[in-house]
Amino acid sequence: MTKPFEKIIIANWKMQLTIEESVAEAKEMKKLLSKSKLPNSTAVVVCPSFLAMSEVAKVFKGSDIILGAQDTYPGDVGSHTGEVSLRNLKTLGCEYVILGHSERRAMGETDESINLKVKATLEHDMLPIVCVGETYDERKEEKTNFVVIHQIYEALKDVNIREGQQIILAYEPVWIIGSGQVIDANEADRMSQIVRQSYVDAMNGEKLDALNIIYGGSVTAETVAQFTNLEKIKGVLVGGASLDGKTFIDIVNKA
Ligand code: PEP
Repeated sequence: MTKPFEKIIIANWKMQLTIEESVAEAKEMKKLLSKSKLPNSTAVVVCPSFLAMSEVAKVFKGSDIILGAQDTYPGDVGSHTGEVSLRNLKTLGCEYVILGHSERRAMGETDESINLKVKATLEHDMLPIVCVGETYDERKEEKTNFVVIHQIYEALKDVNIREGQQIILAYEPVWIIGSGQVIDANEADRMSQIVRQSYVDAMNGEKLDALNIIYGGSVTAETVAQFTNLEKIKGVLVGGASLDGKTFIDIVNKA
């Protein structure tokens, strides 16, 4: 069971750091966050590579930083070469799991598999961060709304969110990720309404309290407030600008 947060700032370290570098940035974040006067209604989540998770977990122990994973497998044990189970992630203290990131969708991750992972994550009482968003071509072809609605509907098919559980839908325009540009705040606002309505439809109007919408795509300390000031956006998912501990905590403080 996860408590509801008013702000959620998530770092996705992807495959960018060694174990040693991950530990160093984690220590820096822990030190800087302990000095910032953040309300405890803000969730700061860091998703290192699987390999670095256990060392980073040791650093975060006793701090307010929450450990997250970049993906998972929807089963506890079995012959699944190369996969990592929720059961094992949980033993490290991992609470949040990114699912359906566009970089994984580009590698063949299907809507069906994302749906299984969402269900398994909730069954383990962990918090799914479901990423949705359109590619540049889809936007050009005016398919943005359709793509996002479809991805949300498929990810949430037959999903049961129990009392007290939370879910995050991260709207991430794929063509903006890693580009150094952000989308216009008005467009992020419009998309947050599409995301919310899709959730309401997919969940038959239930469990609205469990929904948290965040934005992702080249967010920096200079741009973060543009998004977190929007009515329906609770936070951000940060890639590139989360790799440096000081820069990330700057984003957290300005969110
Ligand atoms: C991401 O990969 O989800 C992301 C938002 O990356 P960046 O901040 O680098 O665009």
